[in-house]
Amino acid sequence: MHEMGITAEVLSAVNDAAVKAGAVRVNLVRLTIGGLTAIMPDALQFAWEAMTPGTLSEGAVLEVREVGARSRCLECATEWEHDQYDRLCPSCGSFACEVLAGNELRIDDVDVDLPETT
Ligand SMILES: [Zn+2]
Repeated sequence: MHEMGITAEVLSAVNDAAVKAGAVRVNLVRLTIGGLTAIMPDALQFAWEAMTPGTLSEGAVLEVREVGARSRCLECATEWEHDQYDRLCPSCGSFACEVLAGNELRIDDVDVDLPETT
């Protein structure tokens, strides 16, 4: 499952950031994934819950935001949003389109607990 590898990378980046920040635990991780990445958010959640125990991210909430794909036609410059399977220009029917958004896989935010300073 492709989501396991992605989750492993995200988790390792999050745990590294938490260690660098001197955090004692991770509370929340916000991710953005694009509609063209073929990542299933449910599978990501499943992998997250399977892989976080025993790490700083144990029990952390994973929030996944999905963003739609957007393309621009190279023939007529129309921009439109679409899903994975619809990449034809809606205005002139051209196949010559460039993807503007939809390939995102980004960690937007990591919320951590820092040690109490007394
Ligand atoms: Zn067009």
